[in-house]
Order: sequence, then structure tokens, then C-alpha cells
Amino acid sequence: MQRDDSFELYDIKVEVINNGIKPMACNHKPGDCFFLSGENFSLPDGQSFPVYCLAALIPIITVKQRMTDPNDWISTDHEVACPDVNCGGVFKISRVCKKKFYHHQVTATRKCYE
Ligand SMILES: [Zn+2]
Repeated sequence: MQRDDSFELYDIKVEVINNGIKPMACNHKPGDCFFLSGENFSLPDGQSFPVYCLAALIPIITVKQRMTDPNDWISTDHEVACPDVNCGGVFKISRVCKKKFYHHQVTATRKCYE
């Protein structure tokens, strides 16, 4: 009998906003966005996103996909400044919805059941 090996992850949307203090220094503008669903990153058609900003966001958004303690700052803090100190970009991270995944479909590593 197959045990339930499902788990849930949030789909993530990251939207660029301006901090109202500095202009943008990077190649992103207010309203630009990208999405993360499971392991899949996507952009709206025709839009790009700076790889240096993306690299800075990856550790945060991959944690934001997961259920976190409501008292943990990662649960409550939704805006992250651009890593370029000269840029007024802020990235608003939203948990859009939850999706169900199955361990056996996302890894070849066998799960040990006690
Ligand atoms: Zn920037």
C-alpha cells in the first residue's frame, strides 16, 4: 500500500516596486514581475529580469514557498530591497496559492517510513 507522500508549496509572485527614495539603477521597473511554481521560474511574455537580483532572491523565495512558523520573520516580511545599494528597487514577494506535490514525483531519493 502506497503511503501519502504529498506535500504543499506556495506559488510565489515577485513584483518590482520603487522605494520612493531612489530611482531604479538596475534593469527592472515598477510592475515587472516573475513567478515561481514548484521548481519552475517564469516571466511574463517579453519581460526580462536581472540575474543578479534573481540570485539574491532565490534563497528567500524558495523558503517562502514553504509553510513557515507564523512568528518567523520569513512569514511576515514581504518586501526585500534590491541588492544594489544604489537602486530604489524593492521586491514584493506574495504567496499566491498552495499546490500539492508528491515526493515520489519530485525526487529519485526514496523516502524512509518509520
Ligand atoms: Zn535594482
